[in-house]
Amino acid sequence: MPATEDHATPALREADRQMTICNACRYCEGLCAVFPAMELRRDFSAGDLNYLANLCHDCGACFYACQYAPPHEFDVNVPVALAELRAESYRHYAWPGALSGLFDKNGTKVAIAASLSVIAFLIGFMALVDPQVLYASQTGPGAFYAIMPHNAMVAIFGAVFIYAIAAIALSLRAFWRDTGDAAVTGGSFRQAVIDAGHLRYLHGGGAGCMNADERPTDNRRLYHHFTFYGFILCLASTCLATLFHYALGWQAPYGWWNPVVVLGTLGGLGLVIGPAGLLAARRRRDPAVAAHRQSAMGIAFLWMLLLTGLTGILLLVLRATPAMGILLAVHLGFVLGLFVSMPYGKFVHGLYRFAALVQYARERSLDPETGEQGAGLKSGQKIETV
Ligand code: SF4
Ligand code: SF4
Repeated sequence: MPATEDHATPALREADRQMTICNACRYCEGLCAVFPAMELRRDFSAGDLNYLANLCHDCGACFYACQYAPPHEFDVNVPVALAELRAESYRHYAWPGALSGLFDKNGTKVAIAASLSVIAFLIGFMALVDPQVLYASQTGPGAFYAIMPHNAMVAIFGAVFIYAIAAIALSLRAFWRDTGDAAVTGGSFRQAVIDAGHLRYLHGGGAGCMNADERPTDNRRLYHHFTFYGFILCLASTCLATLFHYALGWQAPYGWWNPVVVLGTLGGLGLVIGPAGLLAARRRRDPAVAAHRQSAMGIAFLWMLLLTGLTGILLLVLRATPAMGILLAVHLGFVLGLFVSMPYGKFVHGLYRFAALVQYARERSLDPETGEQGAGLKSGQKIETV
C-alpha cells in the first residue's frame, strides 16, 4: 500500500483547510484529543489528516463552540470534515485494495450480505436436515449439532473469522505506517486502552454529545458502552464455549447459570440495548453535524449488531422448542453476515480509532524539544488533556 498521495481528494483538501484554520485559532484545544494532536503539527500530510480524522470521536462539540461555523464565510465544520475523511480512510487502507469499493454504498452491500447469509442458512438447513429433526424440540448436550454438525460450524465460521482478522490487521498496518509508523510502547498502549475503554473523547469536553436541539446529552457514549462491552462479552462467551467443547468435552447448549450462557446473555442484551439506543440517538442528532458518507454504513452496522444480539437471545429463550432449528439458521446467518462485513464496514472504525489513540498517547509522551520518548507515559503517567 503506497502512502497516501498528499491531498489528492476533496475530503483531504477540506480537512487540511479546516485544520489550518483551527491551528491558528486553537479555541477548542480542551475539547478532545484532536486539537492537541493538531497543535503538534505546523502543516498536515495526508497521513496526519487521516490520523486526526480517526482520532475524532464525532461528539460534535467543536461545531457548536466554533465562531467560524456556517454562516461564517470560513465555513468550519470539523465533525463533518473529519467524518467524511474518516469514511474515505477506511476505503483507502482496506485490504485487499481490490475490495475497497465495498465501502461505497456500504449500507446496501452489508444488507445484501446479511440477507444472503440468512437465506443460505435457511435453505441449507431445509435441504440438508431431516424435517423431523429440524422442526422438533431438541434438548440436552449436542442439541444444536443435531441440526448443524459442530465441525461444519467451526469450518465455516473459523475460515471467515480468520480471513476477517487478517484483512483488518493488514488494513491497520497500512494505516499505522501512513500515520506515523512509530514503535508502540507499553505506556502508550495502556493509555489507549484506558481512553478507549472510557470513550474519554466522546463527551464533548465534559458536556456530552449534541442533539438537534443543541442540548448536550451523554447518551451516545452510554449506548456505545453497551454496544462495545456487549460485543466483548459475546466474544468471551464464544471463546469459553470453544474451550469447554475442546478441552473439557462439554457440548452446548449449556444451563442458564453456566458462565458461557451468563456472558452470552449479558453480551446479547448489550448488543440489543446499545445499537437500539444509538439508532434512536441518530434520529435526534443535528443534521448539521451528520456526515452523509458515514450514515448508511453506520446504520447498517448497528442493525447487524442489533439483529445478531436479538436473534441470539431469542435462540437462548426458545432453544428447547420446535422453533430452535429455524432460529439457529437465522442467528447463524446474521453472525456470518457480521463476520463477512467486518473488514469492509463500520466495524473497522473502532480499530482505527484505537490505533490513533495509541499514536496520540505516544506522541504526547515525547519530549517536545528532543523528540525523544519522555519519562511520562513510560512510567505510567496519564495524559491530562481534558
Ligand atoms: S473548530 Fe472553530 S473555534 Fe474550534 S479551533 Fe477550529 S476554528 Fe477555532
Ligand atoms: S471529538 Fe468532538 S470536539 Fe473533537 S474534533 Fe471530533 S467532533 Fe470536534
